[in-house]
Amino acid sequence: MHTVKPLTNTRTFLLWLVLFCPVAAWIGWQDHADRRERFLQDTSIAQRMLSQKTVQHEAVLATLAALSHPPDPERLLPSLQPSMPQLLDLGFLRDGTWTGSLAAPPNFAATIEQARQLKRPVTQPLDEARYWLVAPSSWSLLLDARQLIPTADFPPSLATLTLDVGAGPLTLLARQSSASSLGWLIDLHKPLGAVSQPFPLHSWKRLTPSDWPWLEWLVWTVASCLLAAGTSVWQRTRADARRQQEEARLAAMTRLSTLGEMAAGIAHELNQPLTAILAQVRAAERLLDDEEERPAVRQALLASAGQARRAADIIQRMRELVQPSSPSPRTAVDPDALAASLLFLREQELARRGIRLTWRNASPGERPLGDRVALEQILHNLVQNAADATSTRNIGLSGGVEDSGYVFSVSDDGPGIPADALPRLFEPFYTTRPHGMGLGLTLCETLAGAMDGRISVRNLEPRGACFTLRLPLAGADA
Ligand code: ADP
Repeated sequence: MHTVKPLTNTRTFLLWLVLFCPVAAWIGWQDHADRRERFLQDTSIAQRMLSQKTVQHEAVLATLAALSHPPDPERLLPSLQPSMPQLLDLGFLRDGTWTGSLAAPPNFAATIEQARQLKRPVTQPLDEARYWLVAPSSWSLLLDARQLIPTADFPPSLATLTLDVGAGPLTLLARQSSASSLGWLIDLHKPLGAVSQPFPLHSWKRLTPSDWPWLEWLVWTVASCLLAAGTSVWQRTRADARRQQEEARLAAMTRLSTLGEMAAGIAHELNQPLTAILAQVRAAERLLDDEEERPAVRQALLASAGQARRAADIIQRMRELVQPSSPSPRTAVDPDALAASLLFLREQELARRGIRLTWRNASPGERPLGDRVALEQILHNLVQNAADATSTRNIGLSGGVEDSGYVFSVSDDGPGIPADALPRLFEPFYTTRPHGMGLGLTLCETLAGAMDGRISVRNLEPRGACFTLRLPLAGADA
């Protein structure tokens, strides 16, 4: 049969792990992709901003070359600097001599020659930051790459930017400490767009743990925990429902088998009084015609009536057993009266089989607490079993106080109980007799239990078995 296994804590944790990991990895990957995309876009923006500035230099040089009356560099510089803070100096060759506030660019003649051949300005670096831009017209600009764009104007997602004007990389932006080596590195190399100044721009950034999507992960952790816990609870509820169904099914089956057991038990218990009644009535019938046998007929009819009463009592007991809500009436029972009634009922039948039943009370006056009819039934069963087992035809019935309880014993001198049968004796339907039903001792145990009594068995030396029924002692006031 298929049953739903409820989730154990380990299984719930594993379920959570299976739920959590892929989505958490996807969140991390998605976040990384977003940040990388933004970084690439912002690097392109920075590259365009720097390119525009450098293209502006070409435009200024072209304008200066086109002027028919070249202005004086000393006066021109202050008027250009407010809009071009990167411009440190400018000058040109007037009648073969350098005119400018600072010294002429290094290798000036060769640089002009190169510019004229290329028909465009060429650069001549001074150091990592400063470079000359020399046009074919000899007009030259000394520029400081550090001043091209104010640091604050670079897009916020950028971390480190370097530009190489020809003498090694110059750091334009340093928002991230280069010491941090934890995290993913993203970078992009892109040259500036100006034909004369295609300086390589390098942008890079490390996505450190502080950039990781902690909030999204936290939200997903809580959500996945709730999901796993919910699944676990749902599974448990389903398993509980299944278990309850199973239990109900089992209880129904048990009721059915108890019913069957009960029916067999009733038949078993009623068989004996009915057989006895039949025997007594037949004997009475035979003796009826003989006037002298009248007392014997009376005796037989009285015994039949007694057996019939017992049968009725048994049926009543059975009804009470089936309806366990009605507690058996427990009273202080007189063991001598009980034994007398048993002897009266069984004596004749046992005598016919040559069996002698004796009663001995070791504690006269003491009263066990119990239900008289149930007690009669138990003792009757035990005597019946002893009668079936005895070999010398002697059955001893005794009673007495032991350890503050009243104990009835039924002993015989039969073969005793084999060791392997001992633990199974009280099981329903356990029997070693060809026509036995294996219900007598089961019923005895049930009846004893209902009276808070306990039934047990031991083997006797050198032979025989002794069944004992232990009952609570009635109080002094009972
Ligand atoms: P049944 O009498 O129908 O077999 P019981 O429940 O009364 O059912 O007895 C179960 C079994 O216990 C018997 O078949 C028998 O093997 C064993 N038994 C009961 N009483 C005695 C006894 N006094 N001596 C030996 N065996 C016994």
